[in-house]
Parts: sequence; structure tokens; C-alpha cells
Amino acid sequence: MSRKPTTRSKPKATSAPATEQEPVLTVRHYCQGIGDCHLLTFKTPEGKPFRILIDCGIHVSIKDGQALVGDIVTDLKDNTEGGHIDILVVTHEHWDHVSGFLTANDVFSTFTVGEVWMAWTENPADAEAVELDKFKGQALAALQGAGQRLEGMQDLNPYMGRVRDGLQAVLGFQFGATGQRVRLARDAAAKLCKKAPRYFEPGGPPTTIPQLPGLNIYVLGPPRDKAALRLEDQAGAMFPLARGGPLAQALTCGLKMNGENDASLIDELSPFEHNVGSSLSAVLSGDADDSKVIDYVREHYSEPIEHAAPQENPDQSWRRIDADWMGIAADLALQIDRGVNNTSLVLAFEFNDRVFLFPGDAQIGNWLSWSDLEWTVGQKTVTTNDLLARTVYLKVAHHCSQNATPQKQGLDLMTSPYLSAFIPTNRDDAKNVHWTKMPYEGILTALAAKTKGRVIRADDEWLKGSEVKPGFEWPSGSILAVRSKPRDQARVPGGLWVELDLA
Ligand SMILES: [Zn+2]
Repeated sequence: MSRKPTTRSKPKATSAPATEQEPVLTVRHYCQGIGDCHLLTFKTPEGKPFRILIDCGIHVSIKDGQALVGDIVTDLKDNTEGGHIDILVVTHEHWDHVSGFLTANDVFSTFTVGEVWMAWTENPADAEAVELDKFKGQALAALQGAGQRLEGMQDLNPYMGRVRDGLQAVLGFQFGATGQRVRLARDAAAKLCKKAPRYFEPGGPPTTIPQLPGLNIYVLGPPRDKAALRLEDQAGAMFPLARGGPLAQALTCGLKMNGENDASLIDELSPFEHNVGSSLSAVLSGDADDSKVIDYVREHYSEPIEHAAPQENPDQSWRRIDADWMGIAADLALQIDRGVNNTSLVLAFEFNDRVFLFPGDAQIGNWLSWSDLEWTVGQKTVTTNDLLARTVYLKVAHHCSQNATPQKQGLDLMTSPYLSAFIPTNRDDAKNVHWTKMPYEGILTALAAKTKGRVIRADDEWLKGSEVKPGFEWPSGSILAVRSKPRDQARVPGGLWVELDLA
């Protein structure tokens, strides 16, 4: 990889897409909400379609999600001459990007796939990827343990109740509705092609495709830098990965120590002898020997006060701290979630000086690492700033969450007047899993201004097939034409897909 020069080359002005022309690219975005599935169709000089499918998944929390993905895969098959995909890109290992390869495998297994592309982080022959994987595996095991334990607890205080709900939402990226690991789904995607996957990392010349002369594909992420992946606990903790990191270790240890049937671990820091006192679970279930203790605990820590004074909170659960040690699960879950998002394979497709950017779920760490990149193409040097300045189409990263589209080193650098964008998000589904800031208003506002309103969201009202009109007309900016198809209305109403001709 070549490093950044001391002086940056100035971003070039974007050449104006002429409205009369043929589209460079047709993109069909499926509209499952929290989840990605994008079919990119380029044309070869002979006029043959060349298809790139990016991801196929849905978040586990979405009602009838599996059936919806089934409809999507059927549509994909119908729209690709019986299921021919030239390149399948799997951006990262999260359920909402790969579930379809497992749950709709009966249809996907009838597809022909020319190549599978993944990030270096998925390569089992890559020592750093293996190390990351160990970290992830141990952390997930600890989180699952904490999740199960919290599930079985009653009268959690409000804070821990939120931790439990948040944990479920985050673990939904890792596990399917019936507990399947996301790894099975990723591997099902890899098996759709007889050839081994191609693994990509930033650096080197842009990738070209013989059938598509003029197209350059730049790999911007994921970075090799662990700090950029945000998978380290602290900058000072140099090699925590193989052990699962301090947070995962603490959680694992706490789970063992608090295990119902494991008396072998003793809390050395306890201020009392371990044979003194009553076990809380025995007290709460009424099995403890001392009935006075049972009554006291019930009155003050578990049961609602029947005749609470006006200023008194009848719910006494806030006094309980017995589950609070699992609060670190919230931090660990966030760390893992961001870390995996940051392993997203980020691709910028460049044709005729215009760039179509597909950043997967890259979060800030991944984005910030791009600024060091540059590529030599013929006599030219191409920088990330240059690519962003020429970006005319953006698949918004990570469902438009707050920390997945930086302002200064992201949107502010996208200066093309032709910019348009798509957001794979459904606000109601996000609310159901307590992501009240997804999509993030600040990014929506900035995007609306930058694109002059040319933003399509998976939950847009007009995609349901109603009379409502989109908020923009076409041809405009990079959009030559828009088509859409609503879902089967017997299920949850919404769009099945929206398709754009782009130039
Ligand atoms: Zn996602």
C-alpha cells in the first residue's frame, strides 16, 4: 500500500452525467429495512448484464423477516436469468447481511455464482483474521452467557432491564431466530461458488473486471489496524485479542463465580466469609432458612410496595444491584458490534470519473482509515478524497446510524452536485429494538441538503405502492430513472425493492 503524500492532489470536478445517456449502473435495493441486499447490474460492451450482488440478510427482530427474505431471493432469481450472479460480495459477518444465504438456501443453492468476494477479516488463512476471530468468539460466548442469565432474572432494576434488551438487539446481529450462528450463513454464501472466495484489503491497484473495461473497483476498508477496527478495550492494552479482552474475561469470570451450581469459585474480594449469609436466589425463591431475611428482602428489594407514599417509587427493583456486574456486557456488546461493522468490505466502483460507494456497515474507525490510501492508476494518483469528491451515489453505511457516516472525513468530502443516496433502514423496526436514533436525524438532514432531496429510504411511504410521490423527480443528479415494487401486502406493508438507473 502506498502512503499519503505530503501534499494531496486536488479533487477533480465531477463530469456531468448527461441525462440522455445509457445508465452506467442499475441498482436494485431490496427494502427489508434493517438489512442489506443490493443487486448491481453493469453492462458489458456487448450489452450483456454483469451482476454483482452485495449481501442478503435481515435483522432477526423483524416480523416475518425470514419470509420477506424468501420473497427477495425469489425475486433475485427471477431478475437474474434464473439466478446468475457474476460476483457475490459479502461485506461482513452480521446476520442482517448474510441471513438469506442460510434461511433461503434452498433457492440460493440453485444459483450460479462466478466469484465470492470477502474482506481479509474473513480469511481463515490470515493470522490477524484468526486472532480477531478468537477475540470475537470468546466475547460472544460471554455475552450469550450474560444474555441468558439476564433473561432468567426477575425484578431487574431499570438500568439492567435496558442492558438486557440492548444485549438482545445486538446479539441479533450474531444469531438467527433459532440460535444459528451467523458463521453458518456466511459460509453458506461462500459455498455458492465452487472456487474459494477472493479476500480483499485496502492497497494495491484498483481491481478490474475483464468483461467491464473502464470500471475500477477501489477497496477502502477494512483496515489492518486493530485500533481502527475499534476492537481493543484500551489503547494501553496491547494484546488482549486472543484472550477475548478484559471485558470478556471479567464477564466470563463473573458468570462462573455466580453460576448456580459452581461453588468452586469464591469471590476473594467479598467483605464477608463465604459461608456467611444466604444466597439471593434462595431468598427470592423463598427457599432460604431464615424467614426474616426472606421477608426483609421481599419488602425492600423485590416486591412492589402496596401502599407507597406519594413520593415513594412503588417499584423497589431499583435498589437491587445483584445483576449490575453484568452491566459491562453493554460495553462489550457495543465493542463487538462496532468491531464487526468495521470489518466491512468497502468498495468504490469508478466508471467515467463517477464513483458509486458501497461501504457496508463501516463505522467511524473504518472510514477514518481511508484517508491514508492512494492508488496509482496509469499516470494518475487517486486519493480517497478524490474518490469521495467524485461520489455520485452512496449506499449509506450501517443503516444510517449516528457513528457510521462521519461529517468532516465523510459527507463534507462528498462535494459532487450529482450525489444521491439510499438508506437500508426502517425506523419502526429500529424503534422496536430500542434504536431510537436510527436513522440519525443529523445525517438525514445533511444528506437531504447534499443530495437536494435525492435520498431513498427502505421505509419510504411511496415504496408501499400508495399514491404518495417520492420527494424528488428524475432525471436528476446521478439518477436517470426510478422503478419500484411493493411487497406482498398480505404481510407487513412496505416496498419489496426500488431500482435506480444511475449515471
Ligand atoms: Zn447491517
